[in-house]
Amino acid sequence: MSATLPDLESTVSEIADEMRARSDRGAVAHYIPELARVDAKHFGIAVIAADGTVACGGDSDMPFSIQSVSKVFTLTLALGRYGDRLWRRVGREPSGSPFNSIVQLEREQGIPRNPFINAGAIAVTDMILSGHQPREALGEILSFMRFLADDTDVIIDEAVAASEQRTGFRNAALANYMKSFGVLDNPVELTLGVYFHQCAIAMSCKQLAMAGRFLAQSGCHPKTGLQVIQPERARRINAVMLTCGHYDGSGEFAYRVGLPGKSGVGGGILAIAPGKASIAVWSPGLDAAGNSHLGRVALEALSKRMNWSIFGA
Ligand code: GLU
Repeated sequence: MSATLPDLESTVSEIADEMRARSDRGAVAHYIPELARVDAKHFGIAVIAADGTVACGGDSDMPFSIQSVSKVFTLTLALGRYGDRLWRRVGREPSGSPFNSIVQLEREQGIPRNPFINAGAIAVTDMILSGHQPREALGEILSFMRFLADDTDVIIDEAVAASEQRTGFRNAALANYMKSFGVLDNPVELTLGVYFHQCAIAMSCKQLAMAGRFLAQSGCHPKTGLQVIQPERARRINAVMLTCGHYDGSGEFAYRVGLPGKSGVGGGILAIAPGKASIAVWSPGLDAAGNSHLGRVALEALSKRMNWSIFGA
């Protein structure tokens, strides 16, 4: 007999209260100046259950920079356009290296380990850009986010994009290095321009959890009933999120939370409880691997209390 699960809405608000009271918050990302200005005290959480229940706590309506969480959506778009040919350009193995590492690229002839480390995401963005002007590629990404979130208010924060464009030397190095191996088709500065802008998309936890619903529901967009992607592809994207979504902290996240998840250096995490819920958390302070510290703690508590780990009770 299974134990009765707690009520979702009260669990989420309890977790938000617990997180507000904690003082261990990690450090905000400093290498993108605009992100360094964000107050580490924020905490937000939004959960959209499969039956449509919306449970929110803390700063769940406050937009933040989704950064690398955007890579889940660009991967979805690029798979839609290229299908499995995408995997010729980028692998799908955990990297065990920091998000912006360059050494692995040298050993592996410019082919990034997976689509969620920076090099892999830049390669995926380059594929979306091919055949388009940067403005059109960005328009496609933004329209996709707005459609998935059912919200036309999703925007790109130009100040964050400009801030990263001015200081993104490491990403420029990664992109130039891949270009030397022929892994990028477009001019490096154009690909990077699109990449920095996609990372600068600003969304609230509520909008992000809404946008993630299709991954919790076998590829289906619940409002329109449209199949965004086939169930098999949703399952596979979730698999890559589980194994690669937190850089060299992916093992720890799977161990503690037990859900597919993708983090961003803005402090957001999108986590998927397949068949059950789409979850977004935001706390800007990061751990040593560049993942939201309290975001992970909150997801660990949620997954445990709701019995949502994909590995069982
Ligand atoms: N825009 C960030 C970068 O390229 C994304 C990294 C992240 O969110 O993990 O460095």
